[in-house]
Amino acid sequence: MIANDQVDLDELVKTCKRIEKYFVQTSNTERKPVEIYLALLNKTIVYIEAGHSSCDLVFDAKDICDESFNPKEDYAAAKDFITRHRKGFDKLIKDNLEEVTHVCSLEGVKYLPTIKNTESQGGHKALFYIGLLPILDKINHQIELKTNEFASEPSTLIEYVVAQLPKTETWAKFLLNFKVSGWKLYSYVTLPIIALVCCYLLLLWNYFAVSTASLIYSIIIMSVFYMFYALLKPFYEAMNNRIAIAPNWLIGIKVNSAQIRSIRTEEKRASGKPIRVLQLVIYQATCPICGNEVSIEHGKHAYKGRLIGLCDESPREHVFSFDHVTKKGKLLR
Ligand SMILES: [Zn+2]
Repeated sequence: MIANDQVDLDELVKTCKRIEKYFVQTSNTERKPVEIYLALLNKTIVYIEAGHSSCDLVFDAKDICDESFNPKEDYAAAKDFITRHRKGFDKLIKDNLEEVTHVCSLEGVKYLPTIKNTESQGGHKALFYIGLLPILDKINHQIELKTNEFASEPSTLIEYVVAQLPKTETWAKFLLNFKVSGWKLYSYVTLPIIALVCCYLLLLWNYFAVSTASLIYSIIIMSVFYMFYALLKPFYEAMNNRIAIAPNWLIGIKVNSAQIRSIRTEEKRASGKPIRVLQLVIYQATCPICGNEVSIEHGKHAYKGRLIGLCDESPREHVFSFDHVTKKGKLLR
């Protein structure tokens, strides 16, 4: 089932929330299409927040009708209802295109939402989901045609999407929802200093009065420090570099590679800088050379200190740069 697997969840949430605001602000007579859209949007947001992957954001027609307070007795009636009103939804957007695109451009939204459905195959029901249409589709298409004329080799540029915002185990939540401000900011800076001072004192103790006790104490304390260091390193890295690879114990075995990113919240510190929180996220791409999945990993050797995109099928050759802000990259070899 091909659905939203190439949709970027950041863009999906941004677009949908913006259009939702637009519909709430403008009173129009066509309520049913908007009700269907908002019901589908609610279900989508709940699923994203529950940590589902973008390809799971598809919903049964009957559930959508129930959610929109237009209950239908069976699947066929619900499907008809949605199919009818999604045309109304597209028309609503089309009729107000100028206003909608203006509202979108003010907030940097590059897409328009549309209600799509999966193909019903082999007795499976068709499921509905929110798809995104680029506002500049026509222009992009023309540019693509032009560049393709000269490109005989496959493209070496890659585009990443946020495919999932996985949920964290409850016990690990405090590590992510830790807003770095006030005393927490100081402890974040002072903890490594305290650890260093302790290590130095232990070293002095061993230097001037070495004994079995001093050695055992040193080993135990150093191991505890090292354990904490290993445990917290990805979080420090995410705070400093805005993005890091999430440790395996945080994401479980089902996920291949996830990242921790530092995002701005609306709140500001006294200095005027926005307070940041950490968020678990999965960036993904399709390899432009072979079409297999590209995941984000730590760069090694020449790419040490960087995060790079590695192709599942050819991890030595199909190596791409990774920028989590622009979500773009290019072939590195
Ligand atoms: Zn590849």
